[in-house]
Amino acid sequence: MGPPGAGKGTQAKAVADHFGVPAISTGDIFRANVGQGTPLGVEAKRYMDAGEYVPDEVTNNMVRDRIAEPDADKGFLLDGYPRTLAQVTELDSMIDATGHRLDAVLVLTVDQDAVVGRLLKRAEIEGRADDTEDVIRRRLEVYAEETEPLIAVYAERGLVVSVDGMGEIDDVQQRIFDALDTIAQS
Ligand code: ADP
Repeated sequence: MGPPGAGKGTQAKAVADHFGVPAISTGDIFRANVGQGTPLGVEAKRYMDAGEYVPDEVTNNMVRDRIAEPDADKGFLLDGYPRTLAQVTELDSMIDATGHRLDAVLVLTVDQDAVVGRLLKRAEIEGRADDTEDVIRRRLEVYAEETEPLIAVYAERGLVVSVDGMGEIDDVQQRIFDALDTIAQS
């Protein structure tokens, strides 16, 4: 977890490789669907372009299907999910059904100004439709309102691992590995 621009996507791939599990990114799945013009993509695009969350039901169904794929049997890393309280509840029931359990909720901490700078830079490089300044501002608001409170929910369950997300990508990656390896061994 972490605000837009925290580096979730970049780090998710490295962490998933490290543990030999797939990285499941709801943002990436939505973008792939938008690119292919699927009905899911057409629906998701309206929300994404405005910096709003795609409705829970749509997102939940998509994640449920994805974690039922054979490559997720041994485990998986979720990037960008859950983002709302309703998604937390839904994820609990999904993994109950598949027999998985949550090992950790990794929170990347970053400072707000740096995050906006990163997103504007990404806008220049990747041209993502939701990386314009107004939309970025909205995404940060939605994150603060809807998603940040989930950290407390997972902290109560003793699952939160906080890692400083500032600095070089490789340094952040090392911090994450160190933090998660400690948990994996305990
Ligand atoms: P970022 O973390 O930079 O905001 P993502 O690629 O994770 O970017 O997500 C991009 C957009 O996809 C979000 O702004 C939202 O519209 C949609 N999205 C991704 N994950 C979810 C989710 N769990 N629930 C609702 N909408 C989501």
